[in-house]
Amino acid sequence: MYPAQFDYEKAGSVSEAIDAISGHSDAELIAGGHSLLPTMKSGLAEPEMLVDIGDIDELHGIEHHDGHTHIGAMTRYADVAEDNTLWEEAPVVAETTEMIGDRQVRNRGTVGGNIAHADPASDLPGAVLAADATVHIAGPDGERSVEADDFFHGMYATDVGEDELVTGVQVPHEGTAGAYAKKPNPASGYALVGVAVRLTMDGDTVADARIGANGVMDHGTRLEPAEDAVEGQALSGDSIGAAGDAAGSSLDEYMVMEDQQASAEFRLQLLGAYTERALEAAGERAGVL
Ligand SMILES: Cc1cc2nc3c(=O)[nH]c(=O)nc-3n(C[C@H](O)[C@H](O)[C@H](O)COP(=O)(O)OP(=O)(O)OC[C@H]3O[C@@H](n4cnc5c(N)ncnc54)[C@H](O)[C@@H]3O)c2cc1C
Repeated sequence: MYPAQFDYEKAGSVSEAIDAISGHSDAELIAGGHSLLPTMKSGLAEPEMLVDIGDIDELHGIEHHDGHTHIGAMTRYADVAEDNTLWEEAPVVAETTEMIGDRQVRNRGTVGGNIAHADPASDLPGAVLAADATVHIAGPDGERSVEADDFFHGMYATDVGEDELVTGVQVPHEGTAGAYAKKPNPASGYALVGVAVRLTMDGDTVADARIGANGVMDHGTRLEPAEDAVEGQALSGDSIGAAGDAAGSSLDEYMVMEDQQASAEFRLQLLGAYTERALEAAGERAGVL
């Protein structure tokens, strides 16, 4: 299908983009276009104006600082996945971007677009939760920052206001290992279930664990019982199995996603299995398994 008619404006700076969306009641930002254009072509979205943020230099690129890395909102997944330094600093984010869609999607899709769109089956929400990232947002009232834990509100709903845009994501260099394990939807490649893990090891013992899941609830979700099951324990078959068993225990079973690809019951089974896989991969990366 063809999309409905729309006006188009290319923003040269973040403030130009904010002016354009604030002054228009039905404007949408366009970044990689890999979620927005399909919804426009199918008639599910009919924005009157698109504000293209693709040429705003300050939104592009990866900056490595002492203690954290800043990833600009317009940075493509392929550039994140190919950043060798990020694989050392925050492997869970690097590995997750490497597993999104196919090469074409990774060459166009953006970090900011992915988390702002907040599709329940997207891969990056779980990773930014596991990485304990901070999301930078700009709007008519200036700039603000939101912890990943407070960023995702629901299905396609985030903390970003109508007149605001995500400018980047700040990823701390904490944790000594991380990994992402995903059961892809065989048709689309999105996550039927995806589990992102960041571990801070003290020898063989897990000093701190953060685990985020995609595809299970209406938005990316921390799996705190699974974190508790490995924290303070040596990473072993027993502790990993306990984390898998605990993975879905705090989730409201009536809110678990259910669709023609997978029942809620099957998703919860996958959640346990993929929590174990992600922990095993992180443990191997940490050299303790
Ligand atoms: C065939 C196919 C397979 C895919 N497979 C996967 C997959 O396996 N895993 C996965 O995670 N995703 C997958 N995707 C989705 C893809 O990752 C999208 O790129 C992503 O969901 C949105 O990013 P985008 O840059 O394309 O945003 P766009 O499509 O341009 O925008 C999406 C929405 O976010 C808003 N937006 C964009 N940037 C910002 C910003 N900086 N601040 C505020 N709002 C913003 C837009 O206004 C729009 O509402 C797939 C897409 C396709 C077409």
